Amino acid sequence: MADLGEKCGVFGVYGKGLDAGRLTFFGLYALQHRGQESSGIASSDGENIYCHRKMGLVAQVFAEKDIAKLQGHMAIGHNRYSTSKSSNIKHAQPALIEDVGLTLVHNGNLPSTTLLEGFLASKNVVYKTLSDSEMIAEAVAVYMREGLHLENAIQKVYPLITGAFSILMMDKHSVVAIRDNYGIRPLSVASLNGGFVFSSETCALHPIGAEGLRDVRPGEMVVVNESGMRSVQLAMGTQKLDIFEFVYFSRPDSILLGKSVYTIRKNFGIELAKEYPLDVDVVIPVPETAVPVAIGYASALKVPMETGLIKNRYIHRTFIQPEQHIREQGVKLKLTPLPDIINGKRVAVVDDSIVRGTTSRQIVAMLFEAGAKEVHFMVSSPPVRFPDFYGIDTPNQKDLIGAQKTVEETCEFLGATSLNYLSYNGLIHATGLPEESFCTACFTGEYPIDIKERMKEIQVLPTQKLF
Ligand code: AMP
Repeated sequence: MADLGEKCGVFGVYGKGLDAGRLTFFGLYALQHRGQESSGIASSDGENIYCHRKMGLVAQVFAEKDIAKLQGHMAIGHNRYSTSKSSNIKHAQPALIEDVGLTLVHNGNLPSTTLLEGFLASKNVVYKTLSDSEMIAEAVAVYMREGLHLENAIQKVYPLITGAFSILMMDKHSVVAIRDNYGIRPLSVASLNGGFVFSSETCALHPIGAEGLRDVRPGEMVVVNESGMRSVQLAMGTQKLDIFEFVYFSRPDSILLGKSVYTIRKNFGIELAKEYPLDVDVVIPVPETAVPVAIGYASALKVPMETGLIKNRYIHRTFIQPEQHIREQGVKLKLTPLPDIINGKRVAVVDDSIVRGTTSRQIVAMLFEAGAKEVHFMVSSPPVRFPDFYGIDTPNQKDLIGAQKTVEETCEFLGATSLNYLSYNGLIHATGLPEESFCTACFTGEYPIDIKERMKEIQVLPTQKLF
C-alpha cells in the first residue's frame, strides 16, 4: 500500500470565532488542481470531531448541509490526487482515529514504510491494509493512548516517517503541521483574524483573506492552539523542494521559496528561446500550465502567441464514462484546435513536460490535422527519466518515454517537426535559485530521501545522456 502516489493538497485552519470548516472548504476549492479523486474535511469545536469525505471534486463532495455540519473553530482538509490504481474511498482523507480524536491529512509519499510497520507490529497494531498516511496516524495514536499530548506523540513518531510529507494533524486542542527534512512538498502558514491557516500552496490564502506568514520549514513542527503559534525544529532541515512544483503542479499565482510560479514559468520560456530561437509563425501553449512559458518564449522571440488550443476546463476524468468511443477520443475531449490560427503556419507548441508521450503525440497530430505546416514541440523541462517516489503520480520507469527513447526517437514517436527540451542547466537558471534548493530526482535520478527497497525499480539506461 505504501506506493500510492499522492500529489495532494492540504489545508487547515485554527482560530477562535472562525468558521473553520467553511474556510477549509474554500481553501480546498483553491487547491483543486492538486487532487481531484476525493476530498474531505474534519473539524472540531474542542469537544467533538466532525468529518465528511467522499469521492469526487470539492464541488461534488460538499453540499451546503455537509459544510454546515463541519462545526468548530478548527479544521483540516484534503484533496486527493486521482490514480487509477488506487481509486478508492478507503484512501480518502482525513484519516480519522476516533478513540483518541486524531485526524490527519498528508501530501507526499513514503517510498518505504519499514520503520512504521516495525513500530506498529511491536505495538500489536494491524497495519497490512493501511496506507502510508494511515500508518502515521496509527503510530501517533499509539503514543496518545499512552497519555502523550499530540505534539509529543508526533515528536516520537517523526523519525519513523521516512519519505516526503507535508502533514497536518488535529486533535480537539491543536492543529499541528510537520514537513519532512527536505521540504519536498510545499506547505505554508498564514494568519487570519488572529487565527492561523496552513496551506499546501499560497494561492489558497487570498480567496479567504488570509495573510501569508512563511513556509513551514523542512524538519519543522508548527503547533497552533489557544496559546498561539509555536515552532519546534524536529530535525535538521535542508530545503529541497521538488522542482516539478514549479514545472507543473503548482498554480501560477502561488509563491514557492519566495518566487512567483508564474514568473519562473515565464523565465522557462525565455530560457527556451535562448536555447532554441526557432523561426516560427506562431507560439501556442498547451493550456493551462504552459501559458506563462509560451508568453516568455513568444515575447523573447517577438513571435505572436495565440491560444490555438482551446481547453474545455470543465471536462474532468470524474465525468468521463469508460465508453469505448469516448475513450478513443482521448485528448480531443479536452482540447480543440483553432484552424484559423494554425492552418498553413509553422507552429511552436509549448508544454510543461512529457511523461509518457501519449498526450503530446495526440496534440501534434491534432495540430497537423488543423493544417499546421510545421509543429515544433517545446518542453519547459528536461526529459523525465526517473520515477517519482515522493508523491507525484509518475509511472514506472518503463513507461517514461524519456527513459526509454532518445530525444530523436521521442520526436519521431510524437511525429513532430522538432522536439526541444529545456536543458537541465536552463531549468535551474530560470528559477534564480541554487540547484541545491531542489529535488530534481525526476530528471537526474538523485533522490535526496533514501528510497530504500524501491531503488531496485531504477535503472540507469545506457542511452541516457543526462544534460
Ligand atoms: P504525455 O504526453 O502523455 O506524457 O502527457 C504530458 C502532459 O502530462 C503534460 O501536458 C503535463 O502537463 C502533464 N503531466 C505532467 N506530469 C503529470 C502528472 N504527474 N499527472 C498528470 N499529468 C501530468
